[in-house]
Amino acid sequence: MSTTPVTVIKGDGIGPDIVDSALRILEALDPGLDYEEVQVGQAALDAGASDVMPEAAIASIERTGLVLKGPVTTPSGKGYRSVNVAMRKKFDLYANVRPTLSMPGTRSRYEGLDIITVRENKGGMYSGEGQTVSEDGTRAEALSVITREQCERIIRFAFEMARSRGRRKVTLAHKANIMKSTSGLFLDVGREIAQEYDDLEHDEIIVDACAMKLVMYPEQFDVIVTTNLFGDIISDLCAGLIGGLGLAPGANIGENCAMFEAVHGSAPDIAGKGIANPTSVVLASALLLEHIGRREDAERIRRAVRAAVADHDRVTPDLGGDGTTSSFTDAVIERL
Ligand code: NAD
Repeated sequence: MSTTPVTVIKGDGIGPDIVDSALRILEALDPGLDYEEVQVGQAALDAGASDVMPEAAIASIERTGLVLKGPVTTPSGKGYRSVNVAMRKKFDLYANVRPTLSMPGTRSRYEGLDIITVRENKGGMYSGEGQTVSEDGTRAEALSVITREQCERIIRFAFEMARSRGRRKVTLAHKANIMKSTSGLFLDVGREIAQEYDDLEHDEIIVDACAMKLVMYPEQFDVIVTTNLFGDIISDLCAGLIGGLGLAPGANIGENCAMFEAVHGSAPDIAGKGIANPTSVVLASALLLEHIGRREDAERIRRAVRAAVADHDRVTPDLGGDGTTSSFTDAVIERL
């Protein structure tokens, strides 16, 4: 079997532990991946690089077009650019897909949920553009720009994904009543594109009401497509509905590159304790396998993770257990 090269970024905080867990599981499965490990962010600076996105990392990603990534710390405040945002722009990773599927055995408030958030990943308020604070510190500005092309690309992506996965409905989440230009354009384009998909239901909802309805009637949602900042918040909310950030994987998809990662961050509060739940990045590795056509291997990982969680076998403290990242990984490997 030919091997598929994959760039691996272990990241910061809990990143190395949870990515090692995913690599151990992949190794047990042996789906024919060939890893190139590179560093970005603080880890790269610590290793002597002069930039948070060293040339070696960029070259590897350009070569493989496929990345498995742990969370990277972005300190708040001035003077730091987000490596995550920079990578999404650099590799044109325009679609952020965040599936949240209920897992029996978690302490979630709901059962049977299966919601996918599709988030526009490059434009809008989250892009970090035009951020200035006046010299006297009394006025701050940020720029929110979204183009028709960005709206068309993400909304069409969401409808195509919904169709190919046999989903039933696409919900456009927006704030066009107040943000009439940016969210207004997104909604207009969404209404146009929805007409081309008469085999799928579609509806639209103002994002604050969407948050409330997700908490009260989550079963009403199927695929949600929205702009960058709203997608960031709504997808964390969805992760909360199924039992927490430790369970939710994410894919950043572009035409020539795809990056798979946990939805959560580097969790500095538990870094180094060996208790991070690796599920999110392990499920991200399953999304990667699916992306390269290894559906059966992806399913084997998902089944094994779900079975270990359902059996409450060596699960980590966030799931109410006393297991460690490493012992939970053993529990998954035993079920592959
Ligand atoms: P976080 O997601 O790291 O943590 C939020 C809470 O969830 C914490 O209490 C943490 O302990 C818990 N948590 C997160 N992942 C967990 C896991 N796998 N197992 C168990 N508990 C888990 O969010 P934060 O503290 O706001 O951010 C920390 C850093 O991560 C920041 O620098 C932020 O910029 C960065 N971040 C990176 C990414 C990314 O690389 N894609 C995404 C989000 C945040």
